[in-house]
Amino acid sequence: MPDTRYIFVTGGVASSLGKGIISASLAKLLQSRGYKVTIQKLDPYLNVDPGTLNPYEHGECYVTEDGAETDLDLGHYERFLNVPTSQANNVTTGRIYQNVINKERKGDYLGKTVQIIPHITDEIKRNIKLLGTKHKFDVVITEIGGTVGDIESLPYIEAVRQLKWELGSRALVVHLTLVPFLNASGELKTKPTQHSVKALLEAGVQPDVLVLRTEKDLGADIRKKVALFCNVNPRAVIQSIDVSTIYEVPVKMQEEGLDEICMEKLDLPVNKTPDLKKWKNFLTKLKKADKKVTIGLVGKYVELADAYKSIIEALIHAATYHDHKVDIKLIHSESLTSENVAERLNGLDAILVAPGFGNRGIDGKLEAVQYARENNKVFLGICLGMQCAVIEYARNVIKLDKANSTEMDHSSPYPVIDLMEDQKNVTDMGGTMRLGAYECKLKENSAAYAAYGNDITHERHRHRYEFNNDFLSKFEEKGMIASGCNPETELAEIVEVPELKWFVGVQFHPEYSSTVLKPHPIFMAFIKAAINK
Ligand code: GLN
Repeated sequence: MPDTRYIFVTGGVASSLGKGIISASLAKLLQSRGYKVTIQKLDPYLNVDPGTLNPYEHGECYVTEDGAETDLDLGHYERFLNVPTSQANNVTTGRIYQNVINKERKGDYLGKTVQIIPHITDEIKRNIKLLGTKHKFDVVITEIGGTVGDIESLPYIEAVRQLKWELGSRALVVHLTLVPFLNASGELKTKPTQHSVKALLEAGVQPDVLVLRTEKDLGADIRKKVALFCNVNPRAVIQSIDVSTIYEVPVKMQEEGLDEICMEKLDLPVNKTPDLKKWKNFLTKLKKADKKVTIGLVGKYVELADAYKSIIEALIHAATYHDHKVDIKLIHSESLTSENVAERLNGLDAILVAPGFGNRGIDGKLEAVQYARENNKVFLGICLGMQCAVIEYARNVIKLDKANSTEMDHSSPYPVIDLMEDQKNVTDMGGTMRLGAYECKLKENSAAYAAYGNDITHERHRHRYEFNNDFLSKFEEKGMIASGCNPETELAEIVEVPELKWFVGVQFHPEYSSTVLKPHPIFMAFIKAAINK
């Protein structure tokens, strides 16, 4: 398709209304009509990327194949579309300013005064259009983080206003708001929506489509009223009612005609309804599953489930394909001790020790690993979780007293996990870890090989420390093997204990690449083992 179409998704009234899920659902519907679609998130904060953010601030940091550290919404985009995203799909105010200031230092502005308008807005527009011009997508959906009216969002809204003007019918704005239900009066209230549309209008942007989040059915009168006060067609007032799973949203949006109204407004031919057969099959399985598999997820950020978003979704995908409902027990690693570990982890079908950084909660993670190993529980360790499995094995099986990762103890006599050589001189924390997809070669006759059914895979990384190969022979002698290795560097990417039922640690993050239509082999094998335990 020669002329890329641009859809902007803005939000009003409150944050956390699910702009990411609405964007991903609309993208899914357009994709299933045969268009090449991508979704981009613009985040109005000053961090250059979310890689340096504490998970409590912003939830999980999602890593793309090309090694970008991005917002967790990109995880939804990939899970829905089954297409990889890249650095171009997530841009922050920090990155925009960095680019502009770099250009200024190079003298590219030829003596002009550098200003928010036009320089910052031009850089925003350039980043939006890049996905159409360079990456050749038919439709680019750009989600603007934050809510309309925020000071931080202003340059983005201005960029949207300009693009809408320049692109005419090739651009449209979908505005997501909340229609609260007031118990006291028993009414749904549209005033916050009217105000939020007014805020957009003040910035010169007329929304084309309104998506209203609601707990209760809106009814024709409310839709008509909103349409009249906000200058939109009543058909363009779309209800987004609460549903039990995010994976139902595309189906709901199709019923509401969100894709059709967008296509009409973008001058795209509205052909037959898109084929969501595979998606609906997954949904039916998800709803029908009545048997339960219980997984203990041990981590230190469990107060905020968003910190483990991709792991939770990957578990749901895999359990669904095994016709099970997954019951995830979030277990705080700081609360686990040798006294309570048996009682706390008893009764679980499997144990997953989560990724993480730093010392906090590490002892509890090691307790969880030891309990899993000694009781032959199905176990998966991811990144730091894998490193914990290695440390625990070193200390308690190989009897290397005080074995540790140098991340936790610089002077450990047995640094079984250590900094990679090329990490030793790194001083900047942002974007300097081992990031993105690397090849991994699997050993035949291993649990890993059986999971993949293949001897090569590519998996995404985000870490500084690695298994220290100086100790590999000791581990192999005592029964923990490296069943997956990087073919160039020989770094151990997967460890396992073949003697146990299913005890696997992965240095990479399989959760990032599990999608609705393509659950991840490691999670599939982990859940299968948990069910058959
Ligand atoms: N802190 C560990 C490292 O940097 C593990 C990182 C992670 O779990 N993502 O190697």
